[in-house]
Amino acid sequence: MNHAAVSPVLLVHGGAGVIRRDMDAATEHAVRDALAEALRRGHARLAAGGSALDAVAAAVTTLEDAPYFNAGHGAVFTHDGHNELDAAIMDGAALRAGAIAGVQRVRNPIVLARAVMEHSQHVMLAGAGAESFAEAQGVALVDPGYFRTERRWRELEAAKTQARQGGPVDHFGTVGAVALDAQGRLAAATSTGGMTDKRWGRIGDAPVIGAGTYANAACAMSGTGWGEFYIRTAAAHAVCMRVAAMHETVGEAAARVINGEIPALGGSGGAIVLGADGAFAMPFNTDGMYRGRVGSDGVPHVAIWPDENTWAAAQG
Ligand code: ASP
Repeated sequence: MNHAAVSPVLLVHGGAGVIRRDMDAATEHAVRDALAEALRRGHARLAAGGSALDAVAAAVTTLEDAPYFNAGHGAVFTHDGHNELDAAIMDGAALRAGAIAGVQRVRNPIVLARAVMEHSQHVMLAGAGAESFAEAQGVALVDPGYFRTERRWRELEAAKTQARQGGPVDHFGTVGAVALDAQGRLAAATSTGGMTDKRWGRIGDAPVIGAGTYANAACAMSGTGWGEFYIRTAAAHAVCMRVAAMHETVGEAAARVINGEIPALGGSGGAIVLGADGAFAMPFNTDGMYRGRVGSDGVPHVAIWPDENTWAAAQG
């Protein structure tokens, strides 16, 4: 296939669990800045001739370092008051993938997921073994206290109260990116602290290849939402196979799975999906989703609420 004329694109998300009533102006401003910065850093890789993989890794690392998202520094707490991080990355051109689950000391989980893909014979490493591999690879480790933010601690306390009252699960702050590079290659990356109050070594959809993260030659997706439902529907694989094999547009495929199959089972969330022609979709069925896009002009566009129709013309 000749991909000579492809125009690079990068999409990011910072989670679909945005609640309007909880959002103050200062936080909204800071989040928009962080999303724009992630888009700029990822775009810089693409503009310099870097791969889609380089772009998604750079964007997700930036979001992991920001305190506003449920990934890296701002990760949510488990029921026992720990932070257990999951991440995955996938190269759609070669169907290579790397994932890590349940790590407690890795500063940038997406960096470790990429090391698993590029420097091990495996696809997924978990817990202590993943951290030993990080040490062997020289991937930065931190004291677990690095992941402790007061806001997330208060959320854990609130979640425990809500759980006792049988309240809904609706805070999703996972981060992710999908990119198309000048050679027509697609990549996807997702990183998360999982879900507040999670227990017993729970692993969500983000590191499960085909659930929260997937890329092939036709489509790349990163999801955010109630992970168990993304695993049960193999959401990211389902969307990308609809595009690759059933020739649906990314918009049709994403709508069917994210706004069809998942809510029908009782789940909720969103996703960013990118096609090999640059068409994209950013569906969600929550109040809002932190999201953004940058194309070949290098101008980052960021949105949170459903009524922000910034990129309607380019959506597929
Ligand atoms: N999908 C993530 C999980 O279930 C949660 C999120 O999107 O914030 O682990």
